[in-house]
Amino acid sequence: MPIVAKSCLFCGAAEAGVLSKEHVIPQWLLKHLELPADDKLFQGVASSADGTLSQTPRIHSSFNFVQGHVCEECNNGWMSQLEVAAKPILVPLIDGERIIGSLAEEEAHIVGKWSCKTAYMHTWAAPLDSPVQQDHLQALFGDEGKAMPGVTVVGMQADFKQPSAYVQTGHWPHLSKPEIEISDRTPAGAYKIGLQFRHLYLLTAFWPDLESRLTLVKGVHTVIIPTGNQCLEYPAEVSCGDGPVDRLAAFCNSLAVSHP
Ligand SMILES: [Zn+2]
Repeated sequence: MPIVAKSCLFCGAAEAGVLSKEHVIPQWLLKHLELPADDKLFQGVASSADGTLSQTPRIHSSFNFVQGHVCEECNNGWMSQLEVAAKPILVPLIDGERIIGSLAEEEAHIVGKWSCKTAYMHTWAAPLDSPVQQDHLQALFGDEGKAMPGVTVVGMQADFKQPSAYVQTGHWPHLSKPEIEISDRTPAGAYKIGLQFRHLYLLTAFWPDLESRLTLVKGVHTVIIPTGNQCLEYPAEVSCGDGPVDRLAAFCNSLAVSHP
């Protein structure tokens, strides 16, 4: 794990404040989900390469493990504007009143950037020892900032067990036609970060090998960014257990890579 300076994760400015819960899950969203101030629902779950949960869900009553820093200028500037732009798009998705497939291109860009920002901050705040590489955070900086090339955000809408959940996993099914191979050949820098807010499931994923292509489960994953991307699909039954983060974990674990 990198040594973390007190500089801002996004712009590098010195003298940045530490991440608070209001930073990681924005206040409007805590309010919308009706999470209490002493929320105990935040969960960080690390999953091993074979997709099984390597830890039972961990529930934190506070963010005592905070490692990351965000400066006032970022927080009150572009990040605040991103929240203002994202909230009216996200709320109907979260409440299941609008489908992901109806997002216009501009809306998809906002939801995709918001998903990256929120997912990355979870990885820097949670005690999982696998924060996302900082250049991916810096790519988001400013009103013009956007996800690093190669980053994909996919969504799903489904039933849920709790208002909010978070999972980080290193599990990738490998598809090499015709056989499907499950392997732990995961290159350094790859990540999958899943967030769930009521009905809305968001997976922010990065696979660094450009020879391989991310492959969606047909009928499960809907691409949010990059927009207009022709993604490969494979048919699969995605089953999950009954635990509070099982559906989110299955949604994340089933995103595959195809090798030429
Ligand atoms: Zn900053």
